[in-house]
Amino acid sequence: MTKKKLIAGNWKMNGSLAANDALVRAIAKGLGDAACQVAVCVPAPYLAQVQMLRAGCALELGAQDVSQHAEGAYTGEVSAAMLREFGVRFAIVGHSERRQYHGESDALVADKAKAALACGITPIVCVGETLAEREAGRTEEVVKRQLAAVIHANGHCISEIVVAYEPVWAIGTGRTATPDQAQQVHAVLRAQLKAATPHADRVHILYGGSMNAANAASLLACADIDGGLVGGASLKAADFLQIIAAAR
Ligand code: PGA
Repeated sequence: MTKKKLIAGNWKMNGSLAANDALVRAIAKGLGDAACQVAVCVPAPYLAQVQMLRAGCALELGAQDVSQHAEGAYTGEVSAAMLREFGVRFAIVGHSERRQYHGESDALVADKAKAALACGITPIVCVGETLAEREAGRTEEVVKRQLAAVIHANGHCISEIVVAYEPVWAIGTGRTATPDQAQQVHAVLRAQLKAATPHADRVHILYGGSMNAANAASLLACADIDGGLVGGASLKAADFLQIIAAAR
């Protein structure tokens, strides 16, 4: 299997015109001919800025959310078609921060993935268990339930998604899943995708949760880890570039 790995930065609610300018220029400069695909998922107001900054380089653009609706009276929402107009290639859906702080359900996340796919945007579908769920031995059940909703809503298009396994207890905590812990869950997700599509090997399954320059290589060496969704470490060009260099 020779698919390129994918490293996607998730800036979350960070950035400013000045900071983005410096960060994207530094990433573009250091990117060279990276062996992997690289994207940055930026706050919606900065999509146009980053779209311009990345012109002529291999950096792809992503959003951090997308509406499940196509258009209309949905104040505050941003549609997939609008994102598409700004060259957006990826949209994160179902990040645990949205599930937790905005009450996003499995069904809503599945609808958002569907809305993205309908406009040619690749949803990066996040799944992951909380610490309490892991300690109760429910990790597998939780991630399978979360992915099942997306598989159910998207049928044969499912091979077009990206999955991100992000254990909630590892996000922004500095506590990373070990390569073995991550690979175990990735293998479960791969098997679930295999039962749904003959093209499951094409699907990128990313790991996310305190991935950094020091731990990236060992995580990315696992058989079913096809890249990373990187939060904090994507805000520093040097760290992000080291993770990119580890993805070969
Ligand atoms: P982190 O965030 O790398 O800062 O843990 C990852 C994410 O939430 O996508």
